Amino acid sequence: AKNNPNELEFMQAVLEVAEAVIPFIEKNKKYQNKMLLERMVEAERIVIFRVPWIDDNGRTQVNRGYRVQMNSAIGPYKGGIRFHPSVNLSILKFLAFEQTFKNSLTTLPMGGGKGGANFDPKGKSDIEVMRFCQSFMNELCRHIGPDTDVPAGDIGVGAREVGYMFGQYKKIKNEFTGVLTGKGMSFGGSLIRPQATGYGTVYFAQSMLATKGHNFKDKIVVISGSGNVAQYATEKVNELGGKVVALSDSLGYVYDQDGFDAEKLAYVMELKNELKGTLKDYVTKFPKAEYILGARPWDVKCDIALPCATQNELDDTDARILVANGCICVAEGANMPSTAAAMSVFQQAKILYAPGKASNAGGVATSGLEMSQNSLRLKWSFEKVEERLREIMTDIHQSCVKYGTDENGHVDYVKGANIAGFVKVADAMLAQGVV
Ligand code: NDP
Repeated sequence: AKNNPNELEFMQAVLEVAEAVIPFIEKNKKYQNKMLLERMVEAERIVIFRVPWIDDNGRTQVNRGYRVQMNSAIGPYKGGIRFHPSVNLSILKFLAFEQTFKNSLTTLPMGGGKGGANFDPKGKSDIEVMRFCQSFMNELCRHIGPDTDVPAGDIGVGAREVGYMFGQYKKIKNEFTGVLTGKGMSFGGSLIRPQATGYGTVYFAQSMLATKGHNFKDKIVVISGSGNVAQYATEKVNELGGKVVALSDSLGYVYDQDGFDAEKLAYVMELKNELKGTLKDYVTKFPKAEYILGARPWDVKCDIALPCATQNELDDTDARILVANGCICVAEGANMPSTAAAMSVFQQAKILYAPGKASNAGGVATSGLEMSQNSLRLKWSFEKVEERLREIMTDIHQSCVKYGTDENGHVDYVKGANIAGFVKVADAMLAQGVV
């Protein structure tokens, strides 16, 4: 806390890992060496920079840009870029720290990083977004590269923003390389990458449910968010026979007891991705649904909850309501959506609960597959990438079971994910000396 004043989100993420990993280190002497944990919580490098740009009225605007290069022990830094007014150093450090363990879990050679800016894409014209992305890349390009640091999308950064940033990097460096992932399909993007985080979260939940003899068929599912992760989680739940009855955005949530079927989901995608509207407009088109302003969807009765919006969006009160309503499984599509107290509620109730670093790792795993395809200058089929994604999610589930099962056969996925992620990074750091 002394070294990271007022960085509450970062402290929260570190504490969660430390609680799982310290008892493991105490039993395994080799990890007590060389200030390993102390080094892990210190970013290898952080850059903070000015992002000036000119709005449509000819006024100069200034935002703050960041790249946190947390850990490169097992591969080039890898992690998304977030554009949201709430972005600050604490949030990006927590995300980069989580990313290090998540990337390790994927079994692919990727280190951990994260970046972004306190820029709000909402209400900005397409040209303003392009100017901002170009200015952001003017500085970022000095710090990244296909073998150094490979950013991707995150909240507020989708295919459009990745495209503009890639174009600017290419212009400055005069190089066509896989320096960003989440690219468009015509210039090096991987099939399945848009779907990967949402699909992967549902695959992970499927593996968890299977340990109790359950599946998604006829289950009632509540999902928060209505962005990239939430949309494709909904699509996959539908495919597996479940019913998603709630989706949310930053203003409120929609309850649709008939479920977001393919037609309704297509409208949500149009509304959020093209019209850039709010879910309030959903009930105008589908008046049987209800819109609840200023609330989160956790009081909707469900069997399975998939938080897919943002950090700390589900607190202990919400967690108690979910458990009391009979929820049997929570798999996080977002990063750290449950507060520490909410996590304790799930763990004490012994329901199936997966932290984002395990259940949402399908996104970065598929980014890793995009990097492989770019290096090989090949494009793999939809089926091939989806099969690899499934295998990776199954492997991550197995790693959690390996390190997280107690003497009564109960799986603590938080413990399992943190220890499994830690071991590989720790081994690499020990082998590479004190650097
Ligand atoms: P998007 O920007 O596509 O969607 C974000 C969604 O969350 C939107 O519905 C947004 O509402 C809502 N939201 C954002 N901030 C808040 C807030 N402060 N309070 C309430 N709702 C909010 O982002 P993604 O779907 O890509 O990301 C969602 C989560 O998943 C994040 O935690 C991200 O880090 C994580 N993640 C994403 C991956 C990816 O591949 N995209 C990979 C792994 C994790 P509104 O529309 O009103 O802004």
